[in-house]
Amino acid sequence: MDADVIVIGAGVAGLAAARSLTARSQRVILVEARDRVGGRVWSDSSVRGALAAELGAEFIHGRAAETMALLRAAGTTAIDIGGESWRVSDDGELRRDDDDDDFTSASGIFEGARMLARDESANRFLQRFHKDKAMQGTVRAARAFVEGFDAADPDVASARAIADEWRSGVGFTIARPLGGYGPMVEYLYNTCRATRVCSRLSTVVRRISWRRGAVSLEVRGAQGDTQILRCRVAILTLPVGVLRHSGDDTEIVFDPELPNPKRDALQSIETGQAVRVGMWFRTPFWERICDGRYRNGAFFRSLAQPFAVYWTQLPVRSELVVAWAGRPKAMALSGASEEDLVRLAVDGFGALLGDPALAHEEFELGVTTDWSRDPFARGAYSYVAVGGADARARLAAPVDDTLFFAGEATSNDSEGGTVNGALETGERAARQAAASLGAQRVNNG
Ligand SMILES: Cc1cc2nc3c(=O)[nH]c(=O)nc-3n(C[C@H](O)[C@H](O)[C@H](O)COP(=O)(O)OP(=O)(O)OC[C@H]3O[C@@H](n4cnc5c(N)ncnc54)[C@H](O)[C@@H]3O)c2cc1C
Repeated sequence: MDADVIVIGAGVAGLAAARSLTARSQRVILVEARDRVGGRVWSDSSVRGALAAELGAEFIHGRAAETMALLRAAGTTAIDIGGESWRVSDDGELRRDDDDDDFTSASGIFEGARMLARDESANRFLQRFHKDKAMQGTVRAARAFVEGFDAADPDVASARAIADEWRSGVGFTIARPLGGYGPMVEYLYNTCRATRVCSRLSTVVRRISWRRGAVSLEVRGAQGDTQILRCRVAILTLPVGVLRHSGDDTEIVFDPELPNPKRDALQSIETGQAVRVGMWFRTPFWERICDGRYRNGAFFRSLAQPFAVYWTQLPVRSELVVAWAGRPKAMALSGASEEDLVRLAVDGFGALLGDPALAHEEFELGVTTDWSRDPFARGAYSYVAVGGADARARLAAPVDDTLFFAGEATSNDSEGGTVNGALETGERAARQAAASLGAQRVNNG
């Protein structure tokens, strides 16, 4: 055996699992396809200026106990987002808007979905309110949150799952790690190395052969070489899109196949799509135009634009603005070149502020990452499809006390799709794997 446990994937779930296992004295190999750790958390500090560019996760949602503890351990902390929300109204005017109230009423409208005899799609559920004129604003905001916040297709997303998730308050309180997520990932990785986790970066898992108490992985290294790694149990932190993918040489083959309940669960969890563009300007010009009207602008929304929302870094004042498109706008943008995406984002931000020429004049640099075309992510983050109320729990369930599952999609505490959810599942899978190894040792005498 090369290790007691092999953890597949060095995103935050995999790092948390590996760290927790070595603290339990297990021999661990951490296998990661990319040449870096962090997965869908990717802070790039080489881009420009004092602020790291977050190419994946940026915010902290809800209480996020695991994240907060790790940030403290990494010597940093979180900072609440502050500032004003602005929205382009139906008449085309950019006006102040109270975002919190929008989210409260949007989640309020979904409360009724908890009582449905049969689950239905978010869209179908919202259609119940179409005749009520007084509800139109709330319905529109609720749909925009399903698309923008959950990056989900409202025709597919489960109304019940949304009601549960939003009720938990995950969306209400929003903060950012001070200095980005980078220090937290670095801290996790350093702890893994210090506790002798053997990490294998640029190593792609291609085949997982398993029977009770024994797993063998066929992996491909950076030079194209194939190797076999053996362990007693494995923790899989692979994104749903990766687990569901088939038909080319990035498909992960299971031998034997995963049991039916696991494959059914995978069919009930979808991966949301989002396009995110970071734009650096020479100066924070939006703070000074119109007599400083937008100086404290944190979020700018316009449903009519290719990017429905832009945010600044407030309370930190900086030249960085992020443009965000969730589904279906992200689908409309898919296939666009990086250059086109950046241009559209600058155009949109300028148009929203009433001065596209100034936005282009001030623009310096843009970055974007296409997570849907990334073979090791295949989308942004997961959401539950109609009828999949218990799908996250089924995906999380161990197979034969030998294959354990972690990663954001397996979080069944309404934190699916988040960094904190992923961290928590890594810890959970580590506890389960350690318990299984303990039992194997007792049984083997
Ligand atoms: C654009 C974007 C914005 C986001 N914003 C937020 C936010 O503001 N707040 C928030 O809480 N969350 C956010 N998220 C979601 C958050 O990033 C994820 O929920 C979380 O990082 C998932 O961690 P994970 O460990 O479960 O998965 P991952 O980070 O995807 O880790 C899985 C790892 O497995 C590796 N892997 C894949 N295939 C193979 C293979 N064949 N062999 C070996 N390794 C493999 C991958 O390279 C990856 O490193 C965002 C995500 C995106 C994409």
